[in-house]
Amino acid sequence: MNARVIVLGSGTSHGVPMIGCTCAVCRSADPHDRRTRPSIHIEVEGGPALLVDTSTDLRHQALAHGIARVDAILFTHSHADHVMGLDDVRRYNVMRGGAIPAYADARTAADLQRTFSYVFNPPDEKGGGLPQISLHTIIGPFAVDGVRVQPVPLFHGRRPVLGFRFGSFAYLTDCNRVDEAAWPLLEGLDVLILDALRHRAHPTHFTVAEALEVVARLRPRQTYFTHICHDLPHAATNAALPPGVALAYDGLTFAIEAAAEGAWT
Ligand SMILES: [Zn+2]
Ligand SMILES: [Zn+2]
Ligand SMILES: [Zn+2]
Repeated sequence: MNARVIVLGSGTSHGVPMIGCTCAVCRSADPHDRRTRPSIHIEVEGGPALLVDTSTDLRHQALAHGIARVDAILFTHSHADHVMGLDDVRRYNVMRGGAIPAYADARTAADLQRTFSYVFNPPDEKGGGLPQISLHTIIGPFAVDGVRVQPVPLFHGRRPVLGFRFGSFAYLTDCNRVDEAAWPLLEGLDVLILDALRHRAHPTHFTVAEALEVVARLRPRQTYFTHICHDLPHAATNAALPPGVALAYDGLTFAIEAAAEGAWT
C-alpha cells in the first residue's frame, strides 16, 4: 500500500523560534529552522488519512500543507504539545460527516478525557460545536480502514509512551529509551523518524548522539530526527550527520509502503 507522509511539525514543545529568544537559530532566515509542534500526516493511496497527534499548531499546519482529510487520529501521549490542537478537529468532522476514531493507550485516553472534558462530557448547550471523537484504547496492533498499525512501546523519561509502525516506516517521537520488547518490532525499516532534541543531555528526550546509537542498531535506509529544539541549526547540523540521517523539517514529504491489515509489520 503506497502512502505519503508529511511532517507537519518537527519542533520541540516550545516550537522554534522560541518566544522571546534571540539566538541565531531563532533568528535564522532559513525556513527549515522554523519548527512547529510535532505531528505527522499519512495519506494511504486508496485508503485512510491518518493524523498522528493533534499538535498545538494543528490549524496552522493543516492550512500550510493543505490537509483536507483526517480519517483517524493516533495519539503518542498526552503532553500538551501533542494534544492541544484537538478542538480544530471539528473541521474534519464536518468534512467527513461524522465522528473521527482516535486511538490512544489507557493513560493517554484518560488524560484526554480529563483535559478535554467539554468534548467527552459535553454540556447541554453546544454553542460553537464540539469535536466528535470516538476514543479507542490501544491494547496491541490494530487496523484503520484496512491499514495495519503496530504500536511501539517507548519510554519518555519514566513515562511509557507509544511510537507507531506503518509497514516499512516508524514514527518514534518523544522518547529517550526503546522498550526491550520494541526492538524486534523495529527490524527492517525503510524510513525512521526519531526523537533527537539537541546535543545536551535531557531527562526525557534522546540527544543526537543517543539517537545515532538507535540508528546504528536499527540501520534504517533513511532516518529523520524530530522534536528538535533551537540548539540545532538545520544546515550545519545536517552537514555533521552521517549518510542516511538528517533533521526533519516542517513540510518534509516522502513515500512509504504501508502494510495491509493482517500483514506482520
Ligand atoms: Zn513533545
Ligand atoms: Zn533560540
Ligand atoms: Zn512529551
